[in-house]
Amino acid sequence: MPIDPEWCVVEEPFDVSRNRIRESLFTTGNGYISIRGSLEEGLSGDPQNLSYERRIDNISLEETQPGKSRWGTYIPGFMAPHPTLHRQMLNLPYFGDITVAEKDEQLDMETSTIRKYRRWLDLRTGTLNREIEWRAKSGAVLKIAFSRFPHMLYKHLVVQTLRIECLKGVAELTISGGIDSDVRTNGFDHFVQTGISTDDDIMRMTVETNGGDEVRIASIFVSIPILQDFITTPRSVATEMACDLPEGDVREFTKLTTLSTSRDLEEIDTKPIVDIPFDRDVSISELREAHEKAWKAKWEDADIRIEGDPESQLAIRFAIYHLIRACHEGDHRAGIGSRLASGDLYCGHVFWDNEIFLLPFYLYTNLQAARDILRYRRFTLDGARGKAKRYGYPGAMYAWQSGADGAESCLAWQYSDHQIHVSADVVFGIWRYYSLTGDESCLTDFGAEIFFEVARFFAGRVDKRPGDDYCSILGVMGPDEYSPFSHNNAYTNRLAKFVFERAVWVADFLRERHPERFDEIRKLISLKKGELKTFREIGESLIIPRDEDRGLVLQSEDFEKLAPIDMDKFWTDKTQPFGLFISQERKYRTQCLKQPDVLMLMHLFPDEFTDEQKRAAFEYYEPRTCHDSSLSCPIHSIMAARLGLDDKAYEYWKKSAFLDLNCRSPQTADGLHESSLGGNWQAVIFGFAGMAPVNTSDELKFSPRLPEAWKRLTFRIHWHGRKYEITIDKSGPQISQVD
Ligand code: BGC
Repeated sequence: MPIDPEWCVVEEPFDVSRNRIRESLFTTGNGYISIRGSLEEGLSGDPQNLSYERRIDNISLEETQPGKSRWGTYIPGFMAPHPTLHRQMLNLPYFGDITVAEKDEQLDMETSTIRKYRRWLDLRTGTLNREIEWRAKSGAVLKIAFSRFPHMLYKHLVVQTLRIECLKGVAELTISGGIDSDVRTNGFDHFVQTGISTDDDIMRMTVETNGGDEVRIASIFVSIPILQDFITTPRSVATEMACDLPEGDVREFTKLTTLSTSRDLEEIDTKPIVDIPFDRDVSISELREAHEKAWKAKWEDADIRIEGDPESQLAIRFAIYHLIRACHEGDHRAGIGSRLASGDLYCGHVFWDNEIFLLPFYLYTNLQAARDILRYRRFTLDGARGKAKRYGYPGAMYAWQSGADGAESCLAWQYSDHQIHVSADVVFGIWRYYSLTGDESCLTDFGAEIFFEVARFFAGRVDKRPGDDYCSILGVMGPDEYSPFSHNNAYTNRLAKFVFERAVWVADFLRERHPERFDEIRKLISLKKGELKTFREIGESLIIPRDEDRGLVLQSEDFEKLAPIDMDKFWTDKTQPFGLFISQERKYRTQCLKQPDVLMLMHLFPDEFTDEQKRAAFEYYEPRTCHDSSLSCPIHSIMAARLGLDDKAYEYWKKSAFLDLNCRSPQTADGLHESSLGGNWQAVIFGFAGMAPVNTSDELKFSPRLPEAWKRLTFRIHWHGRKYEITIDKSGPQISQVD
């Protein structure tokens, strides 16, 4: 099969040491469900039911558990309680297995004699493929092709195919496959009951979770004129099929699996195939055609073409593919969870990444998805109110790590107590949506209520120190997680100020344009007139700490009181995160940044800082930043591009774009770095193409700084209700309206 290098992520040859990472890279999905790219036949000596206690002592630098592979099947937002991790997204019963044996030899990538091997993820069609040539011990030679895809149109359906051709000898084959509920999520068994049946040759499993939910899975091998034996255990069901394959013959097997849960929103699922209506003659080519058509429609608006740099081309498509497949459009209950449902790490929780790193991609390519992502914050508003109450504050304090109900799921107090900017990021995200679309319903339906409640929280969180004539926000962690307890952090203060400004603005706006709705909201949350006055006053009084002489925006008023640190002295192996080489307490008392803080602020509010201030900030903070967070490099790339530091912009782009793709980070084994993927999209659009990251004018403008190698950049943008195609080459940008 020909492979397009600009659309396909290829593994050749098989590399067991990177298998866990590749499983994350090769995750397939359709928004509703995502499945890690585990080998169908599995790896021997690699049990998937090991129980262990996972504690997250330090979320920043969590270590991954050992193991050659990790099955992973996830429905974003489908969570259950865990004894130490609060609620986590469940790794569902596994149904991806298809094993192949010839006589008494099992196909095994580590021990079998494999002559040809190629595995590739086709980003264009969301399909994972593998082709191998197996020389069995008996002398038979088999050409085997696996392919699979969660159906992009029929969201509850997963299609897997296996094609075996006998090139030499007569093969005596046994194929098997089924469903197994003996799996763990972060070492924990969430399934309290498993029910199994095999009526009509359909393997059915119903599992009950410890959260009281139900998952129903049904699998069938279709079009098999072979006798099947069903083997069941209390937690698994599988079919076994034996057949002979003489030289020159071909056999095809198709495993169809459907899933549904007690938490499904049926109305959003286009033609769900829940209770398998598989007539045995189901046309796989028609199913494939419908699936590919649905993917094509997704790419039409989302694709970015980079001419002149094939590696960057693949990298940006890799990012876009995963952003598309991780978003369950039409469902407002999940947000975009960390690791994009490609691994157990971070438990599927939603961070500030949702609004600040991921939202922009959806905002400019798929408004429905963007709105759902934001509505998640309405769905979890009561959780945020609950958190505020527990801390003794009014209003809504969003969780640092938010689960399905919005309750705080972060275990480390430094982050859950101090990283309060997340609440303001939520407001910023909703505002971004409104300012781009002019869609007032996002304010009347949920935005205004959130603005008021978050403003209330910040009003309760500020202090006025003796002698100060301004309000301060004390003891916070800004985006830079290596400085946990700073005072008047520039990022947090500006974002909090933004919340106050927007709360006051939305009150005026509603009063004028939607007075009845304003009355309703006011009554609903007992908003007093005096509160709006307080919001205005506090907002006006918050400061951005600066050193005017140096034109430097300070990360916080006390940043320069931290000890300087010679990073090179400690950082003896730069392929590893810096944070592994020094203790937490040393990080906390020194001037080392995990990720940009002031630069992040300047990225979100570009018009509020002069080029000189941006340059001063870049020159000051960059050498102090170790980029231990994957969120760091894309923002550095953007800021460097905006400052005309072209080489640096490209260098940071490459670091970020290939972090997962080139298997550079061991953490990818437990899931993709979602924010570097969202950040990569931003680096291209806001950095190299030079579009304003926040819509402050009605004019669509670009100030490109294309990397040397990029001959042409083409993409589409949704802008104020219209679609535009933008082409940028050395002669500048061309903008044409598409519809
Ligand atoms: C980063 C946070 C981020 C989280 C989830 C951490 O390593 O420092 O900013 O929200 O990962 O991506």
